[in-house]
Amino acid sequence: MSEKTIFEKIIDRELPADIVHEDDICICFRDINPQAPTHLLVVPKKRIVRIAESSPEDQTILGHLMLIVNKVAHQEDFAEDGFRTVINNGPHGGEEVPHLHLHILAGRQMLWPPG
Ligand code: IMP
Repeated sequence: MSEKTIFEKIIDRELPADIVHEDDICICFRDINPQAPTHLLVVPKKRIVRIAESSPEDQTILGHLMLIVNKVAHQEDFAEDGFRTVINNGPHGGEEVPHLHLHILAGRQMLWPPG
């Protein structure tokens, strides 16, 4: 695998982050360039490059990420007001960091269609 991504450096504590949740499978921290009043990233510790490169053996990890979205939505108190979860995949998806991550955007009205 190529050199560490920004997210692996955060996982390994080589870069600082405002961490709101961590367990054996994933980490959740605040996005450095927030696009909403609350903008979190949920990142698996295993480097799954992107959802289009995930495999059936990743099923437990992928399910866990969804449950952590639920957990932090309640923990950070935006579950009731609502929020949006986004996965950017590849060039048309606007993906910048090649390490799977779920965006959680909350604290304002989201629009549809997205930009
Ligand atoms: P992508 O466009 O879906 O790949 O999203 C990458 C996200 O990572 C962007 O929203 C960036 O603002 C965010 N990001 C990049 N570097 C850092 C960092 O060091 N800490 C927290 N978030 C970061």
